[in-house]
Amino acid sequence: MNEKVSRRDILKLSGVALGSLAVVGNTANGSECVTQQHDPSQEDSLFESLKPFTIGTPLGSNEMRISFMGTSVVQRRTQVCSSVFVELGNGESFVFDCGSGVTVNYSAMQIPMSKMRKIFLTHLHGDHTSDLTHIYCFGAQQDGKSPLYIWGPSPSGIPDPVTKQTYDDGTVNFCQHFREMNRWHTESQSFVPTQWDDAEGDGYDIFATELSWLTGDTSRYWSTNTSIPKPDSGKWLAYQSKDKNGKTVKIWFFPAVHDRNGSVSYKLEWNDLSMIFTGDTKPNRFLINNATNGTRGVDVLISEMVVPPEVWAIKNGGSPNPTGSGLLTARTVQENSHTPEKALGYILNETAKLGKAPRLAVATHFQAEDDTVYPALHNIRIWYSGDVTVATDLMVITVSKNSIQKQKAVVSDFSWFPLSAPRASYKTKLPKYNDTNSSNPYYPNAPLAQFDQSLLDQVIDPCLYDPTDFGCTHPYHPSK
Ligand SMILES: [Zn+2]
Repeated sequence: MNEKVSRRDILKLSGVALGSLAVVGNTANGSECVTQQHDPSQEDSLFESLKPFTIGTPLGSNEMRISFMGTSVVQRRTQVCSSVFVELGNGESFVFDCGSGVTVNYSAMQIPMSKMRKIFLTHLHGDHTSDLTHIYCFGAQQDGKSPLYIWGPSPSGIPDPVTKQTYDDGTVNFCQHFREMNRWHTESQSFVPTQWDDAEGDGYDIFATELSWLTGDTSRYWSTNTSIPKPDSGKWLAYQSKDKNGKTVKIWFFPAVHDRNGSVSYKLEWNDLSMIFTGDTKPNRFLINNATNGTRGVDVLISEMVVPPEVWAIKNGGSPNPTGSGLLTARTVQENSHTPEKALGYILNETAKLGKAPRLAVATHFQAEDDTVYPALHNIRIWYSGDVTVATDLMVITVSKNSIQKQKAVVSDFSWFPLSAPRASYKTKLPKYNDTNSSNPYYPNAPLAQFDQSLLDQVIDPCLYDPTDFGCTHPYHPSK
């Protein structure tokens, strides 16, 4: 039984009368009223009002840029799952989560794979990890010809109530199986070079570091290649490095409360700039503590946020009836996992009371459209009057000491792979499946090395369909 629910009902349930949408409509687009044509479920006027960002715009050496590559759990044309990309003016870059679909936006933003080698997972849900497969499998085919570093939670320690078994559900075990899951892919595509000559390992190498949500320990790790040095870490410190100007990048982690023991949130500090990305979590005091433990508040606080359960249930086709299963499930999921709108306002107000409010707060993991964004901002503002926005895919935030710019990236819907990032040398190691016979026109690559002769015997001679084809003019027979 699927009751028909009007937009007015949804707004009533989310605690905001239709009138306030009309007022919001005034500020957003200058119109006098909400017209018949304006469907607030089909627009994100807050995002549309931002100034355009041109991809490839250089980043100032003292700036930090945060690009939202995925901002939802519901996959939709306007929003894929979760990922935040952080670039620093010193040239380093970090991927925080890489859920389903997000590589579409990395590609649209023309971010080369070499910029996506350090990946920090907040937890091991598919909407935060699924596109790891694409990054791993296709990184080495492009300019990601160096190891993939992955940080993520340690095991939950929760026993299975049925089998009584306690699984190893941590990041090391995840990465070991992930590596094997992709074996056919990585071998099959190793007929071309997959490692830069000056890289510390191959593009199909993985280095995984486990972060204990319980003790802050970072000593448990695993790698496909024992000669790769372990990145610098410490207690509650997932990663640190020093840049050529002597400035330190630190990526801290702290517990999140989401679904099951294990989830973590991250805080990045560099050049007196900082940002927090909560991943998914219930509202918690770890966040308030980490957002206020510096000499001033963080520059950008990115928190997840969830629509009210009533809105979730109705939007997803469930029943608005409070006893309906759709609503009960939505309430259960919120209780288990997420930060309600008013809770985010409350948390921000707690930081403000300590004189350490963030310069900008960004809500994400939220289906952003006019009939969710403005009620959410209304609910946050019950508690907090500082600068807050709601992210959607391709929102770009540029942070410097004096300003924080919010923009929307202008991208092509028809992008191809990005160009390699500039590097001193483009020399590569020999491919794993190589051919030392220099008369092979594909030398040193061995494109036919992984076929049984019984398959090759049945391949149609290219000279039969195109005498000008490369395979006809330069026939290559590995048996000869
Ligand atoms: Zn999620």
